[in-house]
Amino acid sequence: MSLIITSPLRGWATTLDSVPDPVFAQRMMGDGVAIQPLGDTVVAPFDGEVVTLHDAGHAISLRSAEGAEVLIHIGLDTVMLKGEGFTPLVVIGDKVSRGDPLIRFDLDAVALAATSLITPVIVTNAEAFAISRRTVDCAIGACEALMTLVPVQAEARRRSDDGTVVEQAVTLSLPHGIHARPAARIGETARRFEADVHLLNGDKRGDARSTVALLALGTSFGDDVVVQTRGDDAEAALAAIVALLATDMGEGAPAATSILPINEQVLRAGQIGGVIASPGLAMGPAARLRQAEIAVSRDGSGPVEERAALLAARCDVRGRIAARADSADGSVAAVMQAHLALIDDPELLAGAEKRIAEGRSAGFAWRGAIHDQVDAIRATGNAHLIERIDDLIDIDRQLLSTLTGTPADAESVPAGAIVVADDLLPSQLVALASAKPAGICLARGGPTSHVAILCAGMGLPALVAMGDALDAVADSAPLLLDAEMGHVTVAPLPADSEAFAARLAKRDARREAARAGARDACQTADGTRIEIFANIGTVEDAVLAAAQGAEGSGLVRSEFLFLDRETAPSEDEQHAAYQGIANALAGKPVIIRLLDIGGDKPAAYIPIAHEENPALGQRGIRVALARPDLLETQLRAILRVQPVGQCKIMIPMVASIDELRHVRALVERLRGEMGIAAPVEVGVMVETPAAAMTADLLAAEADFLSIGTNDLTQYVLAMDRGNPAVAAGVDAMHPAVLRMIGETCRLATARGRWVGVCGGLASDPAALPILVGLGATELSAVPGFVAEAKQIVRGLTLIEARAHAELALQCKSAAEVRALARVFEETRR
Ligand code: PEP
Ligand code: MG
Repeated sequence: MSLIITSPLRGWATTLDSVPDPVFAQRMMGDGVAIQPLGDTVVAPFDGEVVTLHDAGHAISLRSAEGAEVLIHIGLDTVMLKGEGFTPLVVIGDKVSRGDPLIRFDLDAVALAATSLITPVIVTNAEAFAISRRTVDCAIGACEALMTLVPVQAEARRRSDDGTVVEQAVTLSLPHGIHARPAARIGETARRFEADVHLLNGDKRGDARSTVALLALGTSFGDDVVVQTRGDDAEAALAAIVALLATDMGEGAPAATSILPINEQVLRAGQIGGVIASPGLAMGPAARLRQAEIAVSRDGSGPVEERAALLAARCDVRGRIAARADSADGSVAAVMQAHLALIDDPELLAGAEKRIAEGRSAGFAWRGAIHDQVDAIRATGNAHLIERIDDLIDIDRQLLSTLTGTPADAESVPAGAIVVADDLLPSQLVALASAKPAGICLARGGPTSHVAILCAGMGLPALVAMGDALDAVADSAPLLLDAEMGHVTVAPLPADSEAFAARLAKRDARREAARAGARDACQTADGTRIEIFANIGTVEDAVLAAAQGAEGSGLVRSEFLFLDRETAPSEDEQHAAYQGIANALAGKPVIIRLLDIGGDKPAAYIPIAHEENPALGQRGIRVALARPDLLETQLRAILRVQPVGQCKIMIPMVASIDELRHVRALVERLRGEMGIAAPVEVGVMVETPAAAMTADLLAAEADFLSIGTNDLTQYVLAMDRGNPAVAAGVDAMHPAVLRMIGETCRLATARGRWVGVCGGLASDPAALPILVGLGATELSAVPGFVAEAKQIVRGLTLIEARAHAELALQCKSAAEVRALARVFEETRR
């Protein structure tokens, strides 16, 4: 007869291996499961009797009528709290029923005082009971099935007639039968005894010390296997092997009520994985977009006519792009501006003219000129630049479709459909937007491409780099696009569609509520102030951000002023831009990042010698320190902004304290020269592992720290953020990145400095509770996400967020963190 142990707490169930205390992790007290609590009341896991209750109120054990003994130990090192924060609700000897409250504890206070809140639930009499099934790696509610215990039955043993062999049958609880890992455990146990040990499955017999022989038994979950032992210590060997085989050996199965196992979250049958380019959810029919090649004739009707045709087509395209730029804001307008520059690009025009002069048609000449540039960009090998090739191809297509009268592809997409394409050009996406698609799935593309930026700006959920598997998606096939987890489900089951629709409805309700409270200051449900700022590049962005309820700007990407031009902007030009941004944000804090040029953001007039590895070369503050003229001009322009102090200065790509000292000294000198009495704050960006790990040293001298998760991710994971070949792995939710963020917050806040996050992770709804839990108190997001970010933070308590973040740090992959985040969202009050 088996005994079901239910969870004594609401939380996240995990294996004992995750408990940072060898007493539990090494099963010194017995086997079991650990729970990261999200609730504050321990309840009885079965009907039984209280057999021990520690004076400090942190640990209790119960015995069931069958004799199973279970210990519940709330948090680690909690004995030191001497009872503070724990309220026992029972006494030793009390008879309790499953679900009866046993101990209430102050989640907040205990979390702050203890090493960890993780709560082991241990079966202490392993000689009598083995765990045949356990729930791990998923959310669990109090009173939901946690473990199944089976008695170790000594009476089921049989002895051969000659008395030399003892044997016992046991039903396998291993979810996948005896495969390599359990076989190794069985062999290890058998080797501790002198006796011969064999396992029998039907007519197959294998030596327990041989992994291969055990695998050859071909066992499955539920098989009745016979253990036979012979020799001096046969009884002891039999007991040990049977006890082991009666358990699931830690290979727990998820509870029926829980989500899918995490490693199946990303790719179940019918799901196709991808890289999240723009987070969100969408459901709808697939709308396949196929791009026919636009044919052009080689020879023209004479240079005069072809020149005129090219000019007319360029005028047309220019007019259309300019109109889109006028009616767009933020990132869409910025992409349109980049395209306007391309249509008049002198290199392209010269290349086309040369071919027209040789007798080619306008279309042939234009395409040739574009391809020259594409080849040149490819030859650089710079993955980020290569992503920009799409913009050239886009301009090529727009011009050729105008020249040849070929209609745009986007018109055929029905509203509410999920666009499925090999790749998408920025102009196609902009044209598509009017058809109101629900989401985008691309086989190719990268997460930092213009299409990705545009989707994020439009709030359109998008997955990219989905690969050839996308080819199999038929037109009109129903799709569930989960750009929070990073996959699409093709032709879902009705139950999946229903669950997805419920998630969507919840999200929409949150958005609606967000709009209502967009202008209010943001704090958590338990009163911790979290500032929600916006990342901006231009005055227009600042106006938009203010309208969305941004409480300031946590990142002004000042390099926008420096890119795509022949010379650096003057002090006056910069000052006008910074003052405009400060005015638009009406006295709210404005954090201006110093020129962040180099790496993937080259400026022609700031020559940087060829570098083998630009991401690790002259970037950010390194360039500014090498060009003191530029740095000084920029600092003066910022210091002139009125009121003094509204603008704070932030240093990009810091790797050492000297860089901060250098800038600080310069700011102080300029303040003196300019007669500015009021202090001006200088902070650092944490984008390098060096900055993260020395956050305490930086915090001793910086006024604030702001984590740039985009670069931090590429440097922590050693994966180029612009390289589509590694795009699938570049996820800031990777536990390594989260641990860096956690360390940064811990080290800096201990020095009394606040830490913000201004990288892309602050615009990811799934990440916000984790970031708050790790200690960030300022989040700077894309303007369109500001209101929703406030709403998410308002729905959190700090204690909940901390417990959740602690779990995230224990996850083994970004996918597991994302699964955890989804559960958190679903189980939150
Ligand atoms: C970052 O690295 O996270 C960041 C905000 O800077 P950028 O994306 O502009 O490099
Ligand atoms: Mg950066």
